[in-house]
Amino acid sequence: MLKKKITKILVGTNNPGKLKEIKDLLPKNLKIYSTSDFKIKSPLENGKTFEENSLIKARYFSKKSKLICLSDDSGLEVNALDGNPGIYSARWGGKKGDFTKAMRRVFKELDRKNKNWKNKKIKARFICALTIYGSGQKTISSVGIIEGHISPYMKGKNGFGYDPIFIPKGKKITFGEMKPSEKYKIDHRYKAFKKIKKFF
Ligand code: IMP
Repeated sequence: MLKKKITKILVGTNNPGKLKEIKDLLPKNLKIYSTSDFKIKSPLENGKTFEENSLIKARYFSKKSKLICLSDDSGLEVNALDGNPGIYSARWGGKKGDFTKAMRRVFKELDRKNKNWKNKKIKARFICALTIYGSGQKTISSVGIIEGHISPYMKGKNGFGYDPIFIPKGKKITFGEMKPSEKYKIDHRYKAFKKIKKFF
């Protein structure tokens, strides 16, 4: 367990969309550093689960910066695609992080499974594994999940990644169409964060 409340932290991500969202979740009196302050590239994510990859990142960024690090590994699981892209969500965007391309791939693979998929509810979920790692501290981890389904069309310009094709359960619009403040109150990252909030 952490002995004291965390007063400064490195957010261990090179993804600007995640950085923005995590910064908005963290308390305002916390000193927040980002990987660009240290010019640290991301480590190889060779874990088999979101939890493993989250720990790989937190440990790596913490060792490089000598700070306590909060890292996130997250992604989209689509039932009809056997859980893909899952931990490969970022990789489907390619080296340039082109998520229009990644969302087109989701559509293409769904087409391949069933030409009629647009008339069905394609169940999906976003998962987020958060890890707080600091040398000499007990590592803290938590997972948050939001269930939903895939929109047959890309909709909305807000957010990042796969937001334009994900409709959360109980809503009629995609994350891409929601105001950031609305998405942040219900999403997988918020749910994971809620469980570790007490350490800040
Ligand atoms: P990684 O955790 O850095 O491997 O990247 C996860 C990838 O999953 C991101 O690049 C996004 O494409 C996707 N992803 C994770 N969380 C979200 C989200 O809240 N909205 C949209 N896409 C997300």
